[in-house]
Amino acid sequence: MSTIVIIGAGGVGNVVTKKCAQHPDIFTEIWLVSRSEAKCRAIAGEIDTLYGVKVRTAAIDADDVAALTNLLRQIRPKLVINVALPYQDLHIMEACLAAGVDYLDTANYEPPDVAHFEYSHQWAYQQRFIERGLMAVLGCGFDPGVTNIFCAYAQKHLFDRIETIDILDANAGDHGHPFATNFNPEINIREVTQTVRHWRDGKWLETPAILEDGAIHFSFDYPVAGPKESYLLYHEEMESLVKHIPGLKRIRFWMTFSENYLTHLRVLQNVGMTRIDPVEFGGQQIIPLQFLKALLPDPGSLGENYSGKTVIGCVFDGLKDGKRQRKYIYNVCDHAEAFREVRAQAVSYTTGVPAMIGAMMMLQGVWRGAGVYNVEQLDPDRFMDELNRCGLPWQVVNFTGTLPD
Ligand code: NDP
Repeated sequence: MSTIVIIGAGGVGNVVTKKCAQHPDIFTEIWLVSRSEAKCRAIAGEIDTLYGVKVRTAAIDADDVAALTNLLRQIRPKLVINVALPYQDLHIMEACLAAGVDYLDTANYEPPDVAHFEYSHQWAYQQRFIERGLMAVLGCGFDPGVTNIFCAYAQKHLFDRIETIDILDANAGDHGHPFATNFNPEINIREVTQTVRHWRDGKWLETPAILEDGAIHFSFDYPVAGPKESYLLYHEEMESLVKHIPGLKRIRFWMTFSENYLTHLRVLQNVGMTRIDPVEFGGQQIIPLQFLKALLPDPGSLGENYSGKTVIGCVFDGLKDGKRQRKYIYNVCDHAEAFREVRAQAVSYTTGVPAMIGAMMMLQGVWRGAGVYNVEQLDPDRFMDELNRCGLPWQVVNFTGTLPD
């Protein structure tokens, strides 16, 4: 009997809750809690209709550590799956420590007033989780998440030494809106407007942000989706992979952006709509990016008319038995198929399914231990099998394409 609490009833929360409900033998009691209980009830209602599973709901402000601790003490779950926003990570980890509950999330902490995410804030909890005998698994979505698992799998089965990793993320989909983001607009825009960093020969190198002159991009020929312009971007999994893949000489992250997306973002940035500092308006302080979020389509609502696919994977270059080899591990996910299954687009789907699988690994004791873990530190084999079984099948092929130096 495993009770779980899922925090956050957005696009990703919808998918995680439905995928957990598809496994009632493992997730015997599911609670979905969020700031607005109405959103939780709407998802619970769909799950009752789809699978005949009763999901229990509650309203909670996860930034209120005392209230969340009380709720967890009442429910007594084995695990919390945090799919609220990165701002809540530390508060939810505190409540888990106080209530004695294991923890899993999909995005690393970032302070609301500084657009800068890094693992140091959450790695600092290592000793406290060890002392309480609890496990915290960080970054178990797709990227971070599955991309880290692909690295752990390549390290375990395909290479004696991985020298370079290129993570390539394409959304070759069309949602039909002039401009929308595929996950929380505030978090998404903060991420993609940052200065770009990648790791080479033992240090981080900075290059211009995607909208600036000199931004680095090239056309990559993605399986199924074809050639797409892919931009160098900083992404959080690189920070932990540099630490956990020994001998790594270079790691980069590339993401596709359409000209239309970049044009809209450039205009929004030029007129100040992506600012995260407070601005006086009509006698009150508003944060322009939060106001913009209120105007943009809710990512959870994009699924209905979304066509096309996401293609996300890793290209590895390294040595096996003294010979150089290059491998590409990737997944293709179809927006319309995801919508048919769980009424979500593929970006929410590719994040929510791995969060459910990570929770499954923890509850079944496949992943166990006390402390704070990134997923590449845990055994990848069962997780890779479950990806194939739970809707995110992957391929591994010899890589024959070209990448920039
Ligand atoms: P949404 O904005 O759609 O959903 C976030 C949910 O969290 C909303 O229901 C929101 O409530 C709730 N929430 C926000 N603040 C609080 C709070 N203080 N207390 C309780 N609930 C709160 O975001 P997404 O579903 O798109 O993304 C969820 C997470 O997944 C994010 O952290 C995102 O960064 C991560 N992500 C990870 C990816 C990966 O591959 N690793 C990819 C995509 C996303 P309300 O509705 O009231 O605002």
